[in-house]
Amino acid sequence: MEKRKTFPEQKQRLPGNEHQMNPEPEIIRENYVGSGKLLGKVAFITGGDSGIGRSIAVHFAREGANIAIVYLKEDKDALDTKALIEREGQQCLLIPGDLSEEKFCKAAIKKCLTAFKKLNVVVNNAAIQFPKTEITKISATQLRTTFETNIFSYFYIAKAALPYLDKGDSIINTSSVTAYRGSEHLLDYSSTKGAIVSFTRSLSAMLAPKQIRVNGVAPGPIWTPLIVATFDSIADFGKDNPMKRPGQPSEVAPAYVFLASEDSSYITGQFIHVNGGELVGA
Ligand code: NAD
Ligand code: MG
Repeated sequence: MEKRKTFPEQKQRLPGNEHQMNPEPEIIRENYVGSGKLLGKVAFITGGDSGIGRSIAVHFAREGANIAIVYLKEDKDALDTKALIEREGQQCLLIPGDLSEEKFCKAAIKKCLTAFKKLNVVVNNAAIQFPKTEITKISATQLRTTFETNIFSYFYIAKAALPYLDKGDSIINTSSVTAYRGSEHLLDYSSTKGAIVSFTRSLSAMLAPKQIRVNGVAPGPIWTPLIVATFDSIADFGKDNPMKRPGQPSEVAPAYVFLASEDSSYITGQFIHVNGGELVGA
């Protein structure tokens, strides 16, 4: 197979590790009480090792789900997440690999099915970003890698998972506030996040007759390894929204619980904006 091209930032800066962050992100509020909203369900979460994905995984486990998480190569973060899920009394399957390859996406869904015998909730959440101030600095390789990771993988995973999803099951996609208002230093990344919005709307229309729901969450600035690994300056991170602070993963994941559970049974094709109050279009 042809060797995949890389570019300098990819090697130097990614992926970020949650266990090296200071302060470490808040994963779940101490007082979050689970009420069996996902009892007996199986959830498959990409990028579930750290950040928002880890927080989703732990919330889903507290709500009674078993979890499969996919991640690139952060084994230590993934093992920590597995331990957190087991502490909730649930099972966790770790699936390391590169989601930009369709073959791996198919194999990952198969592994989840082999381990848990069913699949109910798919969370597409993995992503990368390489900030650049000018379009001329965005190489074709960076552009391709960003699209292959951030949106092609969502397509591949949905395609591989669909045969196993049934009435009442759901797919949840992670977009970003940058899809709605743009971002001068994340031209390629924000474009993938816009594509995720359209993908979500179209797939929701395609699957509505089967009663399978497809929704998304569009986070604003959230304190995660992605931020620390990719932005040169983080001193002002999250200060330019109405709440004047970044959010914690623990403030984002409950939106995914809502979209995964029966509580949102009449909602499909929609996004929840967890962004500190920035007003953006639907
Ligand atoms: P994160 O780095 O903790 O999580 C992203 C994960 O994606 C990584 O842990 C990594 O394992 C995984 N990943 C990346 N490339 C992969 C590949 N090729 N194959 C398999 N896994 C891969 O960062 P996060 O901030 O929690 O990001 C989660 C989602 O939230 C992303 O979709 C991101 O775009 C979105 N988001 C984050 C913010 C923010 O401020 N943190 C804002 C808006 C949207
Ligand atoms: Mg990670």
